[in-house]
Amino acid sequence: MKVIETIDVMRRVRWELAEPVGFVPTMGYFHEGHLSLVRRARAENPSVVVSIFVNPTQFGPQEDFDSYPRDPQRDLALLEKGKTDVVFMPSVAEMYPPQFNGWVEVGKVAERLEGASRPGHFRGVATVVALLFDIIQPDKAYFGQKDAQQVLVIKQMVVDRNLSVEIVAVPTVREPDGLAMSSRNTYLNPQERRAATVLYKSLTLAQQLWAQGEKNAEHLRQEMLALIQKQPLADIDYVSIADAETLDELDAVKSPALVSLAVKIGTTRLIDNIVLG
Ligand code: AMP
Repeated sequence: MKVIETIDVMRRVRWELAEPVGFVPTMGYFHEGHLSLVRRARAENPSVVVSIFVNPTQFGPQEDFDSYPRDPQRDLALLEKGKTDVVFMPSVAEMYPPQFNGWVEVGKVAERLEGASRPGHFRGVATVVALLFDIIQPDKAYFGQKDAQQVLVIKQMVVDRNLSVEIVAVPTVREPDGLAMSSRNTYLNPQERRAATVLYKSLTLAQQLWAQGEKNAEHLRQEMLALIQKQPLADIDYVSIADAETLDELDAVKSPALVSLAVKIGTTRLIDNIVLG
């Protein structure tokens, strides 16, 4: 496994790799969610490149960039075990030199939900993924359905820039009690960890009501809100039932619908989603 820190070397090594090249962009601090993306890439491509880069431009000024959990040595050991070919681990200065001006703007799909709550977040995501795609030139790139809106933003960016990379969305990996795996789960104390199960419980409730015939999206939102509000440690940012492609909020549920939510548990902001239909 090659570990590369500079863009020049990464560009050179890329052309020595057997094709197709599968690419998994990450911010590190791996859990089974990340590893499922790597396994999928490994199964579908003769070459696998994984990037580990905590991208400062996708964090807001009041967010957790400095305290974001990092453990590169453990991550590298896990990637070695997972038979990754190349790990790209650039510094912030390597990716964003002082004269940097290559911002990538994404339109409507980036404006709502996470985009509304975290201004500039998707500009940072689209920018860093565009930079990484340009350096690594992957044939396929793997993203978690856990960040459903991110998948839509990246797909839009690929269309806008006429890139030939295929975007693969990989199902969300959950803890046994349903909590979606996330590097940020490590911020939760034991009491908050128990409270955090309310996210998936509310998604499952919507799924059940929908399966029983409830097609009124507002009723589903209200049922989810009522369930979450019973949890004293939970502070709701949004609960959404939207068209899974456009993210337009729905009145009547039509499939595929994306049911998504963001909830603060204590000081930790968690997101999750499921697709109906
Ligand atoms: P991150 O390191 O948080 O930027 O995540 C890197 C990639 O892993 C992104 O494509 C995420 O959507 C994906 N990911 C994060 N958590 C999960 C999970 N629980 N299941 C599947 N994929 C995930």
